[in-house]
Amino acid sequence: MDKATLFKYFKGRFKSCVEFNWCWNVSEESYESIRERIARFLEEAREPVSADEIANIFELDVKDVYIHLEHIAKSIRRKSGNRKALLMVPPRCRKCGYVFKDLEKPKKPSRCPKCKSEWIEPPRFIIASVQ
Ligand SMILES: [Zn+2]
Repeated sequence: MDKATLFKYFKGRFKSCVEFNWCWNVSEESYESIRERIARFLEEAREPVSADEIANIFELDVKDVYIHLEHIAKSIRRKSGNRKALLMVPPRCRKCGYVFKDLEKPKKPSRCPKCKSEWIEPPRFIIASVQ
């Protein structure tokens, strides 16, 4: 969609369109939802990334990133016809090395069940082909 078409589109909906700078800055890309953008980022990433890194890049709250990841994990298999999946490098206790393998959803545990340390290496994520 080019700018002229876009402008018509917005003008039809918002009369005061010209007052908003963002009108002119809308690109095709911004029609993607934040979830789609995170998913694409994780597909293109070369190495698994942590929720904190994603939060920084997309200017989100880390808590929201984990929620998005949970949804991406479900949708990516469906969208790719089971060819791709969200993979998680599980969080690990930096003190004793305990690996949190049994998490039911993406999150950073607050403390280690084995040594009670709170020094936890956060999980990292990537979307990869699973065939
Ligand atoms: Zn530990």
